[in-house]
Amino acid sequence: MQVNTAHAVGSPEYLEMLERIERDKVCPFCVDFCQDKPPTYHPNQILLGTKWWVATPSVRKYKGAVKQFLFVPKTHVLEPWQLPEEAWANLQFVIREVTKMENMPAAAFLMRFGDTDYTGASVVHLHANLIMGVSREEGTEPLLAYIGYQKPE
Ligand SMILES: [Zn+2]
Repeated sequence: MQVNTAHAVGSPEYLEMLERIERDKVCPFCVDFCQDKPPTYHPNQILLGTKWWVATPSVRKYKGAVKQFLFVPKTHVLEPWQLPEEAWANLQFVIREVTKMENMPAAAFLMRFGDTDYTGASVVHLHANLIMGVSREEGTEPLLAYIGYQKPE
């Protein structure tokens, strides 16, 4: 399983895309981001590509996110420790460049890995999201992201 359709929460179009990927029996991130050609499934332009990473606007921003970018390693790995140190050093560069290009004064960097039934991720190929909401002020609420599951209290 390359995608987890249970995590296409609240978006019929996103669910449709995941179901298409499931039928095609491919890893969507390998097809879209590892072959140096325009994405097949992902509808957004590549913002920045390096030897190791691709950064692109996320398809499905978290509720309340003003900006959100998807970071994908250009090699099919499932766990962070499968990437060489060079890729991690390059990730620092990519985060900094995207943050500068998009005039983001601050952001959260969220990376989930492993069994998607634990994490809420929809694609198993390792990836991360760079997320920015608004600055806290009267009336703002926390911006929430899926990072896993809990039993009801
Ligand atoms: Zn892949």
